[in-house]
Amino acid sequence: MEKFIYDMHTHIFPQKIAEKAVSSIGGFYGIPMVKKGYSEDLIESASEIGVEKCLVCSTATTPLQVTAINSFVAGETERHPEFIGFGTMHPGYSDIAGEVDRIVDIGLSGIKLHPDFQKFAIDDREAYPIYEAAEGRLPILFHTGDKRYSYSNPERVLRILKDFPKLTCICAHLGGYSEWDRVVALKGYLGHPNIYFDTSSAIRFIDPKDSVRIIRAHGVSHVFWGTDYPMQKHTAELEDFMKLELTDEERHMIFRDNAVKFLDDVNKTLGRK
Ligand SMILES: [Zn+2]
Repeated sequence: MEKFIYDMHTHIFPQKIAEKAVSSIGGFYGIPMVKKGYSEDLIESASEIGVEKCLVCSTATTPLQVTAINSFVAGETERHPEFIGFGTMHPGYSDIAGEVDRIVDIGLSGIKLHPDFQKFAIDDREAYPIYEAAEGRLPILFHTGDKRYSYSNPERVLRILKDFPKLTCICAHLGGYSEWDRVVALKGYLGHPNIYFDTSSAIRFIDPKDSVRIIRAHGVSHVFWGTDYPMQKHTAELEDFMKLELTDEERHMIFRDNAVKFLDDVNKTLGRK
């Protein structure tokens, strides 16, 4: 099968804890998790639809987990050339600047934060050292949106971008899981040049016409494709995505071209390749 898709949102766990980790995330969202949550299972699921690369990450729910998770993700990324690794960070971590340096040194390409799991608001001052260390250097992939909490709402992303104008953010789940009316209504959010969206855990919950509207209003060049594996199987996510009435060119940009350009820019900034 021709491989040309970049899956820009997946999670992996060490195999011995994957089952427990996956079931606790499923419980948090009240959504059954369909896949197992470790590297070999991800690769198998991804290969069914011709995925070339997967952005992999894992969230530290306490400061104590940060270094172990970063080392784990870096190790998996080294072992599997089809992986692009994003590290984790926690506002309570003792040496944020030092660990962000290590994230770069061990070959990771960004930082994933999940404010709802990690229980901090995106614009909390205690998270600012993360943005200081990442600005102009590493992109931050934020879980965004959850009707039940306000930690990760899109307003907060705009606030930190005022203070960190050179920060690049990927706002997952089309900019705000379960809060898409807010995404559309928020002035200055759609089309913000520093903000990318991914399509993971979003389009299956939205009317296809509305997904297309959000994607085009934000700018097709700033949208990545993603599955949120192990939340969703690759075949099912692809099937949902193909219901969107996008042009072939738009699909190609979202599947691949945007991600290639974005990751090239990251590598250039970090002086890699
Ligand atoms: Zn995620």
